[in-house]
Formats: sequence, C-alpha cells, structure tokens
Amino acid sequence: MASRQEVLLAIRGMTCEACADHVRQALRRVAGVVSAEVPGWRSAQTRVITSPELNDVALLGAVGEAGYRAEVRERRPLEEARRADGEAIDLVVIGAGSAGFAAAIRGAELGARVLLVEKGTMGGTCVNLGCVPSKALIRSVEAYHEAQTRRFEGISTTAGVLQWHRVIAQKDALVAALRRMKYADVLQAYPEIRYLEGQARLKPGGVVHVNGSVFRPRKVVLATGSRPWAPPIPGLQEVGYLASDDALTLRELPRSLIVIGASAVGLELAQTYLRAGSHVTVLEALPRIVPMEEPEVGEALRSYLEEEGMVIRPGVRITRVERILGRYRVTFTEGQEEEVVEAEQLLVATGRRANTAGLGLEEVGVELGPKGEIRVNEYAQTTNPDIYAAGDCTGDPMFVYVAAHMGTVAADNALNGNHRTVDLEGLPRITFTDPQVASAGWTEAQARERGYAVNTAVLSLEHVPRAQVARDLRGLIKLVADRDTDRLLGASILAAEAGEAIQTAVLSIREGYTTRRLAQLIFPYLTLVEGLKLAAQTFEKDVSRLSCCAG
Ligand SMILES: Cc1cc2nc3c(=O)[nH]c(=O)nc-3n(C[C@H](O)[C@H](O)[C@H](O)COP(=O)(O)OP(=O)(O)OC[C@H]3O[C@@H](n4cnc5c(N)ncnc54)[C@H](O)[C@@H]3O)c2cc1C
Repeated sequence: MASRQEVLLAIRGMTCEACADHVRQALRRVAGVVSAEVPGWRSAQTRVITSPELNDVALLGAVGEAGYRAEVRERRPLEEARRADGEAIDLVVIGAGSAGFAAAIRGAELGARVLLVEKGTMGGTCVNLGCVPSKALIRSVEAYHEAQTRRFEGISTTAGVLQWHRVIAQKDALVAALRRMKYADVLQAYPEIRYLEGQARLKPGGVVHVNGSVFRPRKVVLATGSRPWAPPIPGLQEVGYLASDDALTLRELPRSLIVIGASAVGLELAQTYLRAGSHVTVLEALPRIVPMEEPEVGEALRSYLEEEGMVIRPGVRITRVERILGRYRVTFTEGQEEEVVEAEQLLVATGRRANTAGLGLEEVGVELGPKGEIRVNEYAQTTNPDIYAAGDCTGDPMFVYVAAHMGTVAADNALNGNHRTVDLEGLPRITFTDPQVASAGWTEAQARERGYAVNTAVLSLEHVPRAQVARDLRGLIKLVADRDTDRLLGASILAAEAGEAIQTAVLSIREGYTTRRLAQLIFPYLTLVEGLKLAAQTFEKDVSRLSCCAG
C-alpha cells in the first residue's frame, strides 16, 4: 500500500500570524490533505501530510489562491519522515504552557533539538484562561468601580454604564495579542524547537507517541498543567456549574452569583462580578477567607468586601446543590442551622488538580502523590530518572512563575545532569482583589509550625504616608521575625497595589535580612513599599511618633 507523504513547503509573503492561519486553512481545504502545520509566519514554511496520490500542483495552487507563493522543499514518505524525526529529538516537552515553554527554550539554549507538543491552545492556562484574562477583567471593572464610587475626593468623574460584553471582547483581544507576542512569536526565535499539535502519550522504553508518530528522545519534560477541581457536593455534578474557565468567558452578566471557595481565584472573580453589577454570595468551608494568609489580613479583607456589598459566609458546610426553575439553590449549614441561598449562576473555585490522565504514566513508572500530582524531587525529576516534570502538574504551589522556574530547572537537569534545585525560598503570592493581598515567606502560624519562636509586627495602613495621599487607608502590613536572630521570616501586605511592593520582602527574606536592618534601609518616600520599613520599625518604635520619612 502506498504511504502517506510529508511535504515541506517554503512559503513567501506571510507577514503576520493571520497569514499563517490563511495558509494553514487553504491547505487543509485541499482534498487529500491530512494535516497542515505552519509553525508561525516567521518560519516561512509549512509541513503538510497528504494522501499518497495528492500531487504538488494542488498544494501550490491552494497557497497561490490564498495570496502567497509556495515551492516544494522536500517530499518523502511519512514513515521515513517519522523515523528520521524520532531519532533526531533530544528533548520532548509535553504541554506548551508556561512550564513547557520555559523548558523548551532552555533546551534550545543548551543546543538540544526539542519537540514541544500541545494538545490544546498554545500558551496554556496563564495567557488563555488564567492570569492574563482574570487580571484584564479585574482592571477593567476596577476602573469602572473607581469612577462609580469617586474614591478620590475633589476629582469629578462621570461613570457610564458598564458594557460587560465589551469588557469581555477587550479581554479576548488582549489574550490573543499576548498569546501571539509571548508564545507564537517567541517560538520563531528558536528554530531548534519543533512545535507539534497533538496529544502525547508515553510508552515504555523512552518512547513518546504523538498523532501516530513515534519519538525516542533522550529525556522528557512533563508540563501538562492542571484543571479546575470541585469537591464531591451532592447534586453538584448533576446540575452543572461554572468553573473559573467559564467565568472568564461569560458573555452575559448574571444578576446574581454564588461563589464556592474564597481563595485567590474565587475572591478575584467574586469581586469582579460584584463590581460589574452582580449580587454575589461567597461560601467558604474554612473559618476565614484567603485561608492560607494571615488571619488579620483575611478579617480586614472580608470587612472591605462586605462594605462593597459582597455576602461572605465562611465556616459553612454545603450539603446540597439543586437547580430549580433555572436558578441554582445551594443548601448549607453553619453549626446546626440549615440555610439556603439562590442565584442565577454558580461558580465553583475550590482548587485545581494535575492533568495526568491518558499520559501512560503508570506504564513508565512515574508515580503520583496523594492529590494526583506528579511526584518530583528537588531536581524536578520524577520517579522515572529520564522523565522530569514542571509546573501545575506537580501540584502546589500553582503560580505561573513557579511553573516557568521549574520548567527551566527541569530542562537544565534533564540535559546536563541533576545540578540545579527548585528554589522557592521566600516565594511571593498575590491575590488580586482590591485591596490586594501580597505575601512572601511564612505566615506566623507556618513559622511556629516549623519550630520558630517569633516576633510579629502589624502596621495599619493609616501610618503609611502613601496611603494617606492616595486617600485609601484600607489595609495593613504584618511582618514575622525569628525571635532569636531577628531574621525576617515572612511578610504580608494588604493594600491597593500591594503586589508592587512585595518583591522587597522576598529579597529581604532570601538575603537573610533582620528586621533591624530593614528598618535602617533608605526607602523612597511616598511609596507603599516604604510601609515595609515602617512595619519593621514598629518592632522597636511607636510609628505614630515618627516624623516624615521615619529616618
Ligand atoms: C483564573 C486563574 C488565574 C490565575 N492567576 C494567576 C496569577 O495572577 N499569577 C500567577 O502566577 N498564576 C496565576 N494562575 C496560575 C497559573 O495560570 C498557572 O500556575 C500556570 O499557568 C501553570 O502553567 P503550566 O505550564 O504548569 O500549565 P498550563 O499552562 O496549564 O499548560 C499545560 C498545557 O499542557 C497541555 N497538555 C496537557 N496534557 C497534554 C498531553 N497529553 N499532550 C499534549 N499537551 C498536553 C494542556 O493543553 C496545556 O496547554 C491563575 C490560574 C487561574 C486558573
């Protein structure tokens, strides 16, 4: 039987990603074309898999009709091409999100021939369904809210009506632009990286299958990310609900919304919908919102959100979810009391779990942890020494910068032997509510669990000149120090734009600063970050008695 053919075409005339799309579509419409990949417009080429009888003329004609010029570079039987490809790959990276891109780029920098496999949309969670769309929505709605509430006395604003569908459309445009700029275009700078659309599966003997092609790389990096997870609440799966992915793409603003889960993703989306005009109720099983943060921070944030009109019920146990006459009805208990809340929409934001199904991990000796996450050691190496893993698929902490850091470390170690460890000391974490929660290192409770005797300082934002001039006194700063050495162990900031100040705390923790040393550093006046110095001073002084700049 005649074999399918692989045809490599050089394409002239492509000037942007839309051109690459035109060429791809034009070729895919040709009868006999099985697949057509254009690895970005800058590559000036396309790889087409065809039935054996399809000739070059049909391919060149299709490209010509789309407005571009093509010539055939190479034509060979697909089997031969696959054999050659399989032998020519050093590193297969599975998943083209932040961890996968970091791993692939590091591999290319090290001179390796890299295959980057993606079964969904290039860029993964952060740019498509995570950080970028959520922060874009938050900022749009924040601007609208500022105008509405005229927070700044003396500045007159006229607030129009929020057009939700336009906010969503603007967010979608930004996502598309950043996906192109930060992923598709970046790939063009690395010709050593071959991008392949398809689902990867591991087989024993170091083999990776993708779309029927077989690769035998030296090493593999798993970077398959995570997906939203919901707890086993009676009725929930039957009635259906929104996960964070859906909440970022809702075309119509619901009049009312119940949010289950009061950690970062749940609260960010809850406040966004609240400010856009929905009536929002948040239910949380643990006794506090942002439960992993300092209790003072959780309590203060709760009061600010409630002042805006959010209904917040921590410490509840949800017993049932139903859908009655098109509305969601959630039954819960707090103590002995049974209560019910109803709304048009229901969002479940109770965490994420690693994507591992269908990868064949059990066949290749890659073990999973208790929440289904891929187990890795400090070198990002799995229980199979030839397979590394990075990012959300390895479990918490799930942040994009952790994913990128791990991806780089994994590729480095995979190709050059284990010599770099994953280093998360002083890791920053931010909840992008308004005010924001930004923290680094350990909370007081975490430090005590680790056996430290601690000193703490809590500074209300009214003592921070920046907050005074901004006329926004919401928030506080809390520092945790080792009582024996005075070393800074942790810092939490609750303030508008707190995220912009936290890196100073990260550096201080990593560099082993004492709170006394932090208190003596010069900080720029009328900045939020100066609050860290003031908080450090409160270990020894009464800040209300300090003059300007707090020497
Ligand atoms: C709503 C929301 C907001 C967030 N906000 C922030 C924030 O502000 N800051 C922050 O740091 N983090 C944030 N995060 C977390 C951040 O987005 C993730 O930690 C990060 O994107 C994880 O990157 P990753 O590369 O590990 O996985 P992903 O980006 O999910 O990439 C994994 C990729 O692997 C692909 N894949 C899976 N299986 C296969 C297979 N078998 N074959 C081929 N491909 C496969 C998937 O299709 C996916 O594209 C947010 C997350 C959410 C959900």
